[in-house]
Amino acid sequence: MPKPDTLLAHAGRDPEKYAGMVNTPVFRTSTVIYPTIEAYDAPHDVSLKPVSYGRQGTPTTFAFEEAVARLEGGCQAVATPNGLSAILVSLLTVLRPGQHLLMSDSAYAPARSFCNRRLAPFGIDIEYYDPLIGAGIAGLLRDNTGAVFCESPGSLTFEVQDIPAIAAAAHARGIPVLADNTWATPYFQSPFELGIDFSIQAGTKYIGGHSDLMIGTVTTTERYWKPLRETVRDFAYSVSPDDCYLALRGLRTLGVRLRQQMQSALRVAQWLEGRPEVSRVLYPALPSHPGHELWRRDFRGAAALFSVVLKPMSDAALAGFVNGLRYFGIGSSWGGFESLITVVHAEPYRTATRWQPEGPAVRLHIGLEDPDDLIADLQRGLDGLSAAAGAARHG
Ligand SMILES: *Cc1c(COP(=O)(O)O)cnc(C)c1O
Repeated sequence: MPKPDTLLAHAGRDPEKYAGMVNTPVFRTSTVIYPTIEAYDAPHDVSLKPVSYGRQGTPTTFAFEEAVARLEGGCQAVATPNGLSAILVSLLTVLRPGQHLLMSDSAYAPARSFCNRRLAPFGIDIEYYDPLIGAGIAGLLRDNTGAVFCESPGSLTFEVQDIPAIAAAAHARGIPVLADNTWATPYFQSPFELGIDFSIQAGTKYIGGHSDLMIGTVTTTERYWKPLRETVRDFAYSVSPDDCYLALRGLRTLGVRLRQQMQSALRVAQWLEGRPEVSRVLYPALPSHPGHELWRRDFRGAAALFSVVLKPMSDAALAGFVNGLRYFGIGSSWGGFESLITVVHAEPYRTATRWQPEGPAVRLHIGLEDPDDLIADLQRGLDGLSAAAGAARHG
């Protein structure tokens, strides 16, 4: 089995098939023509590639899916229009009305909304659980539990879950484990070795890597991949071949980008830990993080996304700090080449646990800029906060 960097360079392309082209070309089509009516009328298996109609994908889609499946170490991957739809089809593949779903309290907020607003009215009992529950999940499993959903670490609050313990308890009762692995990417984690049955990626983030496309993937095992592909087809999801092409191109540099971004993120995070305006840095790669040992055990690296709890301050001071940064764009998403900042509002999305940090929190994504410039930018902002707080004290 080649190592991940070699797979990134070679998976999902076949120059001999495409006139020597290094990259699998963009195939645009709706209609697929057959040589005879007998061939057209022959029964089409759900796994059939090439397919009978463009909605089901093109060779560009399949090349991307094949590369993702090999990286994840799963049986097959399916591309979806975005990361959220990848979560939805995973849930809908395994859940049936009358079943019970265990959802991590740290899960991506729009996934929670889908569960509460769409699944619950169709007779699925949604129960949120403490992401740090570990083997204790066994006590929450019921005869009708249809799935356990994880997101580790949580992409706002960074709790690291004990996935192998959760998977062991779930599998003992035949229950599949679904995980949103967008933070780890297949480069920093091998989900199927940890016991995950559905590995979900918002390819919009690191796989695309350039903040210019929307795509999602679900990779699963021999047992689930046919029902998964069928679900995607029943929901009529199709993905643009251009986005599949761009995502596959992004994948080629995933390793170098992630290694560089992790190195820069560690530097920035360590520097922030030493600042008096900072209360805590929530980054699993830091030895101070409560999930650090689990992270070391289950991951090969850390994405460049973490949160920082600041010392208490006014909303105006926080806004002044965020607005004043030069290199940190204010915006959703992450995983691109550029640095970003948002203010963390996690408390409204909590059911089983609380999120009440000692001060306001910001989430940083560290891009490919020189970390010296990012640190200088943050330093100006934090110095400004301290100066304002000092003036208020003495004024
Ligand atoms: C962004 C994100 C998603 C959703 O991906 P989209 O492509 O934006 O739909 C899902 N999970 C996590 C953790 C994310 O950060």
